[in-house]
Amino acid sequence: MQDTIAAIATPNAAGGIGIVRISGSRAIEIADKVFKAKNKLSLSQLQGYHATYGMIMDKQLAVDEAISLVFRAPKSYTGEDVVEFSCHGGLFVMQRVLRVILEQGARAAQAGEFTKRAFLNGRIDLTEAESVMNIIGAHGEQAASAALNALDGALSRKINNITHVFLSAAAHMSAWVDYPDEEIEELDFNSLLADYNNAKKELEDLLLNFDAGQAITQGVETVIVGRPNVGKSTLMNMLLGTERSIVTSFAGTTRDIIEETVRIGNVVLRLADTAGIRNSDDPVESIGIDRAKKKLARAGLVIAVFDASEQLNDEDNELLELCKNKNSIAVINKTDLQLVFDEQQIKLFVKHCVFISAVNSQGYEELRKAIETVLGTEQIDTSAAMLATERQRNCCKRAIECVNEAIFAIESGLTMDAINVSTDGAIEALLEMTGQKASEAVVDKVFENFCVGK
Ligand code: GDP
Repeated sequence: MQDTIAAIATPNAAGGIGIVRISGSRAIEIADKVFKAKNKLSLSQLQGYHATYGMIMDKQLAVDEAISLVFRAPKSYTGEDVVEFSCHGGLFVMQRVLRVILEQGARAAQAGEFTKRAFLNGRIDLTEAESVMNIIGAHGEQAASAALNALDGALSRKINNITHVFLSAAAHMSAWVDYPDEEIEELDFNSLLADYNNAKKELEDLLLNFDAGQAITQGVETVIVGRPNVGKSTLMNMLLGTERSIVTSFAGTTRDIIEETVRIGNVVLRLADTAGIRNSDDPVESIGIDRAKKKLARAGLVIAVFDASEQLNDEDNELLELCKNKNSIAVINKTDLQLVFDEQQIKLFVKHCVFISAVNSQGYEELRKAIETVLGTEQIDTSAAMLATERQRNCCKRAIECVNEAIFAIESGLTMDAINVSTDGAIEALLEMTGQKASEAVVDKVFENFCVGK
């Protein structure tokens, strides 16, 4: 039997209300030892989903007044008995409440342990568990909606349906191989091939939307680059609507990387305004330039800024070269001045060009559209099934590889055993995705990133 765990479930900061949560077979018994209800009834007399008002006590001393909410297994978040104390949201008070609970025999919960128990007790599968953290971390409406749909099982249902196709095929093939004397209906390879191709297409679609889905749910590492004085800081300020970056007309003022998070359309950009990329003798500036180049290499989106009032020079060309194989947008700034430069030259390297005047905040809409086009988030349907984590993506990729092998085996008339082995591989990858057949190490890894109390 699992031991009983407890943790503060609300943020580690002062707030109006703080919740301390206990889960496990002794949750109600332990809660009863530290809680004195105003109506004198013990919590063990309470039905699930019922609340009562009273005092949290440290022996004879009152710690705080609280509302105690009882959930009875299996109808709780974890699937076990759960008690939640809503106390005053002071850090000291919450910690004291937690301490008296621990003194009565509960164990301090590890990160994500409540959700892990929900998974182990079959309340949710692994993809749904992962969506819990995405809901908590959602920056905007679409991110929250995507995570909520995942929690509601949109991805699980899709993956289960696909797994079912492979399971039925595998069962049929095994029966055929293992019981040659029985009258088992012969396998129709054409329909098998059609089923496998359909399943493959569905998995490929999931994979195809992964980056756009990530842009919506997790945000995109974005760098604003360009030679000094083209208007990077001014652009950053235009996007942020503040005077966050230092703007001067002296080349090389943005010495280091300034980072901010901003939502543009349906995506969250984690923006870095970097030191202008140019060769510099100033050692401080050189360090900034080096870091900018490294950031550019890692970035999911590059916004390369150019000055419309000047000819492209070697530094601009060097930057264009760096942008070549990346998700990049060329922003041609200072369009309020005389245009003298060559757009065609830029188009050779970067497909998307946007004209703006950052000081006048002109061109925001065009830039937003370009960002959504480049990241593929324009058309994304957040109510559809979506892969939400790198782990899920890897499982999906593995499944596709196995389906490809199976399709090859069918098309080349290989033995049923060969088809079966590849089919099993696909099933395994998909069962790992939903957690129906995931190793302890995989499960532990998923919950490692959770916060304590969730
Ligand atoms: P950075 O070095 O690339 O970060 O460039 P800054 O943002 O510091 O801008 C350099 C200079 O260009 C400042 O004097 C800005 O006011 C000016 N600037 C920025 N954007 C525009 C623009 O759209 N039009 C004009 N005319 N000047 C701009």
